[in-house]
Amino acid sequence: MERKQFGLGDVVQMKKPHPCGTNAWKVIRMGMDIRIKCTGCDHSVMLPRLEFERKLKKILSHGEEQE
Ligand SMILES: [Zn+2]
Repeated sequence: MERKQFGLGDVVQMKKPHPCGTNAWKVIRMGMDIRIKCTGCDHSVMLPRLEFERKLKKILSHGEEQE
């Protein structure tokens, strides 16, 4: 199975959109936990990396900073 590559600053689409109606999240913190921010309403959530990878649908755009 293909492993999705994502990095800081990437904008990603999740399997479920945020209740505000937006489904584009920016990765603002990488680590054991991933923090993503809704680009629609600026709400941010922290998810364990595994859970994030499970909920990730696709990467919409890549940020400049790549690890
Ligand atoms: Zn939102």
